[in-house]
Amino acid sequence: MSRTKISEDLFERARAVVPGGVNSPVRAFGAVGGTPRFMESGEGPYIVDADGNRYVDLVCSWGPMILGHRHPAVVEALAQALTRGTSFGTATRGEVELAEEIVSRVAPVEKVRLVSSGTEATMSAVRLARGFTGRSRVVKFAGCYHGHVDALLAAAGSGVVTFGLPDTPGVTGSSAADTIVLPYNSPEAVREAFAAYGGEIACVITEACPANMGVVPPAPGFNELLRELCTANGALLIVDEVLTGFRVTDAGWYGLAPVEADLMTFGKVMGGGLPAAAFGGRAEVMSRLAPEGPVYQAGTLSGNPLACAAGLATLRACDEEVYDRVDAAALIVGRAASDALAAAGVPHRLQRAGNLFSVFFTDAPVADFDGARTQDTAAYRAFFHSMLDQGVYLPPSAYEAWFLSAAHDEEALTRVAEALPAAAKAAATASAG
Ligand code: PLP
Repeated sequence: MSRTKISEDLFERARAVVPGGVNSPVRAFGAVGGTPRFMESGEGPYIVDADGNRYVDLVCSWGPMILGHRHPAVVEALAQALTRGTSFGTATRGEVELAEEIVSRVAPVEKVRLVSSGTEATMSAVRLARGFTGRSRVVKFAGCYHGHVDALLAAAGSGVVTFGLPDTPGVTGSSAADTIVLPYNSPEAVREAFAAYGGEIACVITEACPANMGVVPPAPGFNELLRELCTANGALLIVDEVLTGFRVTDAGWYGLAPVEADLMTFGKVMGGGLPAAAFGGRAEVMSRLAPEGPVYQAGTLSGNPLACAAGLATLRACDEEVYDRVDAAALIVGRAASDALAAAGVPHRLQRAGNLFSVFFTDAPVADFDGARTQDTAAYRAFFHSMLDQGVYLPPSAYEAWFLSAAHDEEALTRVAEALPAAAKAAATASAG
């Protein structure tokens, strides 16, 4: 068992002053139980908690740390930026360079606006789509997460065309009423929604490849169908690449399966571990943003110099070798996890999309949110805690992708492989019980 005394004490103090003791819910270990670990440092593929336990990190800050922790190029760029100042509230050179870098990589993006979080990016993209089209309805898919934007937290309901019911108190019925939630990967549902409401739909927003209900790749032709129906009905297609962007290829999911979106959203990797995100797209649409156009959007810390420096250094370091290493590491860990679970007789399913993967604790193929929800979460809980005790930090929820970095070397991968058989046995025991 790892030592947890200091994390326990910190968690107790945190709960007194921070709701639930954390600043983002999944960090609280609610889905797996136990004491959340308070991390103090990271180096390459490892993170170290306040009690001194060292873990192979398979969360990578939920995606941004594609180069691993404290990559020398990122540390150096930040050190340089710090000597110049932390924020001016004016335009800066770094913002231009980061915008140019994004535009040069992702063909549908002609202009881009920098913001500070993925949530801000999707919220602003939806506002822009509504402003551009003069329409109000938004189509989203159950199980796709786009940040905690009021209108996009509506994912409840079943049936072919379900009007969004807010998933959370505080989101009013009226802010979710224009959201149409459809089952993912269902061409019929999308066709029906457009047949019923085509002239009122401002946009369809979708994850380029969903990875927030576990990894659920788009069925062949699904994203293309969204493009076709949006074009035919005068709606905009927003492809959310906050998670996939610059992680699965240098052009994100677009680099694997190009579909021309009107607007795209980015975050995570493009901030290199600091708060930077963006939305961008066709110049004709983006030019409707203030100050060029009437759709208002702004931010005190948008394009922050430190965040731009870390993001640029990260993107510039992401060469072919980096993607090859992430791809290879993802292949090895996914296969090793699946082999260990199979050997222990645990029903599971490994789903991959590029270098993204997740392990569902169910044996049927998962094509949508309902499928993802058939998982044996008790088995995952036991698996997670065994891995944690053996020094491997997995996502504290069965519904998440596992993240690798280019820093996951043979030593780190061996540590993961060595921990897997005992964790698989623990899952088998929990599953049987
Ligand atoms: N969109 C997607 C696809 C995401 O995965 C996330 C976060 O996980 C977001 C948007 C929201 O980003 P942020 O947490 O930076 O607000």
